Amino acid sequence: MDARQKAAKQIAESPQDFKICEGCESIVMINVQMCPNCHAYRFNQSEADIIKHAEILGSREQQSVTSEDLS
Ligand SMILES: [Zn+2]
Repeated sequence: MDARQKAAKQIAESPQDFKICEGCESIVMINVQMCPNCHAYRFNQSEADIIKHAEILGSREQQSVTSEDLS
């Protein structure tokens, strides 16, 4: 399992700890005030959406969501 898949699994298991940036669709930690990637401040906190996003993240080629957001 690579780092991206590990991150996706972690997100899917604890969606309440994360949210999705509405600007660039990165998954960021719940306590982040501003997206580190695109500096947006609007986030989607729907757990269902976060789980769905994590599954996409784990199954797709590398995109803008990264494991360093989670460390
Ligand atoms: Zn963003």
